[in-house]
Amino acid sequence: MIDPVAQIADWVLSARRTVVFTGAGMSTESGIPDFRSPGGVWDRFDPSEFTFQNFVGSESGRRRYWQLGRAVYPVIRSAEPNPGHQALLTLWRLGRLDCVITQNIDNLHQRAGLPDDRVIELHGNATRARCLRCERPYDRAEIQEWLDAGVEVPGCALPCGGIIKPRTVMFGEAMPPAETEEAQRRARAADLFIVVGSSLVVYPAASMPVHAKRAGARLVIVNRTPTPQDDKADLIVADGAAAVLSSVAALVAQRPAVT
Ligand code: NAD
Repeated sequence: MIDPVAQIADWVLSARRTVVFTGAGMSTESGIPDFRSPGGVWDRFDPSEFTFQNFVGSESGRRRYWQLGRAVYPVIRSAEPNPGHQALLTLWRLGRLDCVITQNIDNLHQRAGLPDDRVIELHGNATRARCLRCERPYDRAEIQEWLDAGVEVPGCALPCGGIIKPRTVMFGEAMPPAETEEAQRRARAADLFIVVGSSLVVYPAASMPVHAKRAGARLVIVNRTPTPQDDKADLIVADGAAAVLSSVAALVAQRPAVT
């Protein structure tokens, strides 16, 4: 039987359009815990508390949210792209990757070097924030300085005074329409769709592999634990994302680039 890494590399080499879909497991090897593995974020916080409705609905909801944000943001800020992120950059530079659709909010694909227009963020980006009233943008690092200085609920500069919200999609909040549409379009156009480090339980993001498969793509899932879509996959690799992607990129790089 062909080695799974060699099989993925062969499929990447013969694909017209490869799309990679990443989840929190893509970044655990950068030191950012995922949500569902033991010891993950939701072992320590109750997700039902951190809804969009609680955030916009009350000062106390925002205070509680920013307590979590203040604790989590430094982990994201200090994380570095891992060899898996670098491997996706290699595939893109070789002309073998159409785009990355990501559930991650950590900005690591872009920090690895993928251009902004090659990364479709379904759940936003935790390095940015914005006033919900006047839409003034804020750098999340600046907000962190306010939190560290004792501000409990950051507000927009006066006279606006509106609610500042991180540019992440919260529970109970709709996914961004333009990104969702673009992701669906690219998933349907793919002939190879590779899921990396996602439990595939958060919808509607988890419907992307379904769109791809229905449109005729091959589906590969690289995830340490089983997912509810394993029965739809053409190949499952239950291994670490960084090692698998690095090996795939190394094999693909041995062939000439697409011109
Ligand atoms: P998840 O936490 O539900 O699942 C992650 C999956 O990755 C798990 O099934 C786990 O077995 C697997 N995994 C962990 N480390 C791995 C590795 N090194 N290699 C291969 N597989 C590995 O994540 P999700 O499906 O992305 O959904 C959670 C939601 O949480 C997402 O919507 C995302 O927005 C958000 N989130 C983002 C980050 C981030 O930006 N880095 C981190 C935590 C959560």
